[in-house]
Amino acid sequence: MLIDNHNREINYVRLAVTDRCNLRCNYCMPAEGINFVKNDKLFTIDELSRLSEILVSQGVDKIRITGGEPFVRKDLMVLFRKLSSLKKLNDISVTTNATLIGPYIDELKELGVRNINVSMDAINRETFERITRRNQYDTVYNNMVRLITEGFNVRINFIALEGQNTEDILPMLELTKHYNVSVRFLEEMPFNGGSKKFQSITWDYKRILDYIKEKHPDYYKLESPKTSTSMNYKIPGFKGTFGVIPSFSRTFCGTCNRLRISATGDVITCLYAKPSMNIRDILRSNDSEVKVIEQILKAIGSRAKTGFEAQQKYQGVFDNSMTSIGG
Ligand code: SAM
Ligand code: SF4
Repeated sequence: MLIDNHNREINYVRLAVTDRCNLRCNYCMPAEGINFVKNDKLFTIDELSRLSEILVSQGVDKIRITGGEPFVRKDLMVLFRKLSSLKKLNDISVTTNATLIGPYIDELKELGVRNINVSMDAINRETFERITRRNQYDTVYNNMVRLITEGFNVRINFIALEGQNTEDILPMLELTKHYNVSVRFLEEMPFNGGSKKFQSITWDYKRILDYIKEKHPDYYKLESPKTSTSMNYKIPGFKGTFGVIPSFSRTFCGTCNRLRISATGDVITCLYAKPSMNIRDILRSNDSEVKVIEQILKAIGSRAKTGFEAQQKYQGVFDNSMTSIGG
């Protein structure tokens, strides 16, 4: 079992499989992209499979595949097949922009992948294309609806971006009237590859909730797991639910159960921390299993208690792009 220095069990790993992406969301990276790493710096699918097996042997029972855009990796389904064979792995999830997932939906279902987070920051086509800097609206919308109707547990991640998409908050929420889907409104974080710096945000979770309350005064709170980053709600009579994620306000840090491993092997114990070490070459060396476990135990043994503590300790962390961290 992986226990951190604050006695929190780490049973959830967010595993990034690439830093590349076919979109250019303006809150995530500059229009020209970032310096994407060379292929040999990325874990191979075989290495990701081995790493997953090691993590599961240490008590990790939830792995979320993320990126960059995970489905830009042509051999990604090989990894999902491996994950699906790991008996002690209870939850295989993926976070995707839903542009490329279409051909894989049937197999994902067969493999028991249930939880799919789709990032969609606008329901209005022009707004969507302005934010993502690409014209993939129809593909994303259709794949998102298909995932819901195929019975996946779909959560839409919508970042509230001042001056860009807040007029889409209520129309996006309307989806939950007709579909069994959860729409989660996130606070923007300053991990955008240096394209925009800010110290505070105007659309924090309280403002989002107040704004929704004006239109839907009768929404009520749902129970959420202790380690959840979202506070969840339901509007009476609506099929789905909605939530807010205080990703910038960081009200949830105390019960954090997650570890991030980037596509190049950086071990990240908190979104607001700099990587504490890199395990790619260790995984590639002889006797790697024991050494990888040793290093991960070391990393979680000196973990910041909260994102605020991490931010204080690691100046300059905001130069990163979310595409390298995995969200
Ligand atoms: N490409 C996939 C996607 O967009 O879903 C997976 C990787 S993306 C980096 C993971 C998550 O991070 C997405 O939900 C995205 O919206 C979120 N994200 C990216 N940049 C962010 C930022 N600056 N603030 C808050 N969330 C961000
Ligand atoms: Fe790509 Fe996801 Fe970043 Fe958008 S948020 S640019 S889809 S990695």
